[in-house]
Amino acid sequence: MNEREHRKCVIIGSGPAGYTAAIYTSRADLKPLLYEGMQPGGQLTITTEVENFPGYPQGVTGPVLMEDLKKQAERFDTEIRFGFIEKVDFSKSPYILTDDSGKEIEAETVIIATGASARWLGMPSEQEYNGYGVSACATCDGFFYKGKTVAVIGGGDTATEEAAYLSNLCSKVYLIHRRDELRASKAMQQKVFKTPNIEMVWNAIPKEIIGETKGFAKAVTGIIVSDTKTGEDRTIPVDGVFIAIGHTPNTDIFKGQVELHDNGYIKTIPGTTQTNIPGVFAAGDVQDLHYRQAITAAGSGCMAAIEAERYLSMKE
Ligand code: FAD
Ligand code: NAP
Repeated sequence: MNEREHRKCVIIGSGPAGYTAAIYTSRADLKPLLYEGMQPGGQLTITTEVENFPGYPQGVTGPVLMEDLKKQAERFDTEIRFGFIEKVDFSKSPYILTDDSGKEIEAETVIIATGASARWLGMPSEQEYNGYGVSACATCDGFFYKGKTVAVIGGGDTATEEAAYLSNLCSKVYLIHRRDELRASKAMQQKVFKTPNIEMVWNAIPKEIIGETKGFAKAVTGIIVSDTKTGEDRTIPVDGVFIAIGHTPNTDIFKGQVELHDNGYIKTIPGTTQTNIPGVFAAGDVQDLHYRQAITAAGSGCMAAIEAERYLSMKE
């Protein structure tokens, strides 16, 4: 049997949380090992412009931002490994992580930064126009639709919050929901009903997003929805479509190993990144139901690194 590799700190995930944790832990001489996972660079690698990450006055594309973070982590000798963690055993310290090649690593501390994935409707046109009129994040992309008409899909708190946010930027927002009653909190329901430029489209299931291609440029021109009561289709002309039907945290491998909320997000002690397992920390979207921004992920990655470093120094 191969000898187990022993590490002071293993970081699972290569999004803003993982790389920030890597920058801090490597500068603290913990010689971290970081697993990139199936999506090296994380969610931002599938977006175009990022205009709200501090330090880039002209904005930056998601892939370039993530490459910069990676280089910064490498500069301090983080070991970045291609591959993903398939199994964890947090029953006793040092914790055992098994990667996709079957290799086992013993870790004194683990920083979980595996993110969360936006749920998509699953239509081919949604993928075709992703980043060219289709988005899953109003805070990130709303700015590009200033003065335009957009649709938000969903009926929960996320969809109503996205609609309210967009109503301040866009001339018109259609909130398209598959039932005749919102799932969102009463306060958010009242907010959208009172906002004059939000129009509810009830009992409507998105069927297709339509658009046009001019040279290399693609643009959304509308959305076809099917009425669940009458079965009739109608086309709503819009410049952008925001899908807000929920997120799924990437926590399957942690079930039964670390405490999770009912919705699958990792539970952390408020104001910290500590999980219920000493020496196991969670940072970024995987533990954040509310903000889900690159800068908040990076901030909590920094917290996790400092907490891991303090945990190890208390043990010595
Ligand atoms: P993620 O970026 O989700 O990264 C998770 C990482 O974990 C990935 O590298 C993945 O490969 C890895 N991983 C998962 N499972 C495993 C495993 N088992 N083993 C090893 N690795 C694993 N935010 C902004 O602030 N501004 C924006 O403009 C913006 N635009 C966005 C546009 C889009 C289209 C999307 C989807 C999101 C956008 N966001 C934006 C949100 C932002 O991307 C996220 O908040 C941020 O990426 C979360 O960072 P994270 O490090 O927690 O996780
Ligand atoms: P959610 O509550 O699960 O709502 C998802 C919405 O999308 C539902 O209205 C659902 O319709 C709809 N939907 C799901 N799949 C669909 C599909 N395939 N086609 C069309 N519509 C679909 O998710 P969320 O809004 O992201 O909220 C998740 C949790 O975070 C909730 O607990 C919420 O309260 C919380 N949250 C809180 C805040 C806040 O407190 N500020 C902000 C955001 C989120 P149905 O209603 O018909 O099921």
